[in-house]
Amino acid sequence: MNLVRQANTTTWLSPHTGQVWELVIGLEVHCQLATRSKLFCGCAVEFGAAPNTRVCAVCSAQPGSLPVLNGEALRLAVRAGLALGCSIAARTHFDRKHYFYCDLPKGYQISQATRPFCTGGGVRLRSGKLVRLQRIHLEEDAGKAIHDRGPWTLVDLNRAGVPLIESVTEADLSAPEEAVEYLTALKEMLQHAGVSACDMEKGELRCDVNVSVRKPGAGYGTKVEIKNLNSFRFVAAAIEYELQRQVAALESGDPAQRLVQETRLWDTEQGVTRSMRTKEGAADYRYMPEPDLPELQLPASFVERERSMLGEPPAERRARWQQQWHLAAKDAEALTHTRELADWFEAAVRAGAPPKECASFLLNEVLTAQPDSLSLLLPRQVAALVTMVAAGEVSHASARSVLRVTLAEGTEPEVVVQQQGLRMVLDTRQIEAWCRQALVGREAIIADVKAGKVAAVNALLGPALKLAAGKANAAVVRETLLRLIAES
Ligand code: ADP
Ligand code: MG
Ligand code: ZN
Repeated sequence: MNLVRQANTTTWLSPHTGQVWELVIGLEVHCQLATRSKLFCGCAVEFGAAPNTRVCAVCSAQPGSLPVLNGEALRLAVRAGLALGCSIAARTHFDRKHYFYCDLPKGYQISQATRPFCTGGGVRLRSGKLVRLQRIHLEEDAGKAIHDRGPWTLVDLNRAGVPLIESVTEADLSAPEEAVEYLTALKEMLQHAGVSACDMEKGELRCDVNVSVRKPGAGYGTKVEIKNLNSFRFVAAAIEYELQRQVAALESGDPAQRLVQETRLWDTEQGVTRSMRTKEGAADYRYMPEPDLPELQLPASFVERERSMLGEPPAERRARWQQQWHLAAKDAEALTHTRELADWFEAAVRAGAPPKECASFLLNEVLTAQPDSLSLLLPRQVAALVTMVAAGEVSHASARSVLRVTLAEGTEPEVVVQQQGLRMVLDTRQIEAWCRQALVGREAIIADVKAGKVAAVNALLGPALKLAAGKANAAVVRETLLRLIAES
């Protein structure tokens, strides 16, 4: 089956039957909070530590152990809710969600069912569409089951009890690229708010995709849930695949292909989804209030304090830079790649760097110089260097070599310029002297220029700059040459 996307719409045409179809998509995203310790015990959260070395009585579920809520996790969770425009519940509590699996030693996960700490809110797409959030709740991660060691299944509990927030959208998305745009924006907002590093390679952001299809205007169809996608590319591919599969099944009328509500897995190798199990209903989880943790009350002052820590949302920051500082859209985009980079750039501008020049110097010279170059420089050092370049006091080529020295030795740019004699000559009389010398014996060129062939002057540029030993600005030299010819 190959459905055809109808131009500029989120509908697809079935070439065989002439029927038109629509996608309905809702996303559930698990995001690991950037805390140092786990949600209910003091064990360190550390990616890549030796298996079962970050484990204690609580997170390995020893009888008699009791959970204690990590205040930092709660703070970051609230901050996430605020960043996404949600309402924060004044009172909330935890629930036990039961299921049986070897990576879950307690036999239940501490999560939130009936009273999540966050409801409402959403993410605005570029088209203006609002993707509404149903809820965000706080929960602990399970351990990791490792199945590829011969006859054994091994369990690593380092991850058991790591704090997660799960955000659930309404089924507001209608195309693969909308899902990707939503996820990209969500990730960026969480990163910029300091909620999570969202490092997908470390599994810090994982996405479950709910997909169904319907005829335009019809009610919701039967959905499937594709679990645990750790790349936005896979999210888009899985949605595409499900669109084709579900429409084919519905149009075939074949009872064997009847769609059922189920959980599916994305097979990265084959590029297909496979049925994993029929979906548990809420009843299967036997939710019950967690008796070992008290009801949580979140005072307004606590919530307001987190609001003050949010910082400017990345999309607004980009818009402001473009408006106030006339930054190119793609430079603004690149400089908001992380909150750290965006803050660094702004610090350099505050230290006096002209914004546009600073943006392009950072992106084209500094960030390409060496991987950790930003940590080896101070914003004011880049500001000093960019200011000298913008004023014509230092050439681009010299700035590059100054940057190398500052990166390697930490020497202040002004000092490097001084020591290496890199300051451009701005003295008009000196520049005129070099130009006069370059004009000697070049009567043919002078005549050409006077006759209106202005470009002929370019032949004198090289010799004049050579006399200046690279310390004169080419544009100034060219202007001076033209002026001297005109006056002669
Ligand atoms: P479940 O009980 O199966 O977890 P929920 O009602 O909690 O289902 O919804 C989970 C996610 O699935 C939400 O993001 C929701 O928007 C989405 N969803 C619900 N119904 C549909 C549907 N028919 N098609 C696509 N997504 C849906
Ligand atoms: Mg659900
Ligand atoms: Zn522990």
